Amino acid sequence: MSKLPKAKLTEQEIRPRELMARQRIMALTDLGRLLSRCEEFVLAPCPACGSEESAPKFEKNGIRYVECGACRTFYVNPRPTPGVLEWFYRGSPNYAYWNNVIFPASETARREKIFVPRVNQLLELCSKYSVATGSLLEVGAGFGTFCMEAKERRVFERVVAVEPTPDLAETCRKRGLEVLESPIEKIRLDAASLFDVVASFEVIEHLFAPADFVRHAAELLKAGGLLVLTCPNGQGFDIEVLGVASNTVDHEHLNYFNPGSLATLLVKCGLKVLESFTPGRLDAELVRQKILAGEFDAAKDPFLKRVLVDDWERMGQPFQEFLVQQGLSSNMWVVAQKHAV
Ligand SMILES: [Zn+2]
Repeated sequence: MSKLPKAKLTEQEIRPRELMARQRIMALTDLGRLLSRCEEFVLAPCPACGSEESAPKFEKNGIRYVECGACRTFYVNPRPTPGVLEWFYRGSPNYAYWNNVIFPASETARREKIFVPRVNQLLELCSKYSVATGSLLEVGAGFGTFCMEAKERRVFERVVAVEPTPDLAETCRKRGLEVLESPIEKIRLDAASLFDVVASFEVIEHLFAPADFVRHAAELLKAGGLLVLTCPNGQGFDIEVLGVASNTVDHEHLNYFNPGSLATLLVKCGLKVLESFTPGRLDAELVRQKILAGEFDAAKDPFLKRVLVDDWERMGQPFQEFLVQQGLSSNMWVVAQKHAV
């Protein structure tokens, strides 16, 4: 797999420190809201392979995580029901803050450092697998930056955003995007309107039932079309090393798949898995920042301290590249194809 361009990415650019202090308050408010309905949480089998066999992994902020004995996906269990999640996201002050403050303030950097490479990667996959570029659907378009970037390339004839949250859907429309303001499970298309490519970035980790989501996404694809998903890799470096201290482990993320388990899920949903890769660029920096902030004690791990602190200037970048090459970064992509009829 070719690699994304090496534009340097720092956390400060995409999560400006001065704005993140207030965001933390919003996130804590959200956590309180979610926990206020914890008595409605329900037990669920593994979201990837369906196994009921799991062992406790850790607890964070009153939320319990278990690990599947069969596929090593770890997940929130018991977990908020779809109804609780809908209520949670609709009234989330954290989401409102991201959309009204952080995304607008960091959009130029996000576009250049995240969305341009993301569109490049997607186009490269279409070319590699000889998939037509007639139409592209993004599920969970949010602020609309990916769709805007994809549209401006003029490669796809049609770019459509699925965004069920009214405020975000309105933002997308104002930016001139074609929007389906609906949850994916309520979208029905006739054969002539199916898409060549369906993409969804950082969505499935939030869902109660990811398998349902994948099945619905596959229904919107033409035969031979591509489904491209990204999400955290639960076996990636920053999550494995930091565990409960990883910022990725939070109350919004219910599912921590790994490349193997996500492939299992896609196959179970009738898709053919073409490849997975982990192009994350921040693992080493995230763990380094935790060590420097005293939030993660590297004293017991002199190797990590050497690579991430003492010899950071020399080893940091090559180490991150090693993680990417070996499928060990905490951000993963999985590419699947709908079988030809
Ligand atoms: Zn499993």
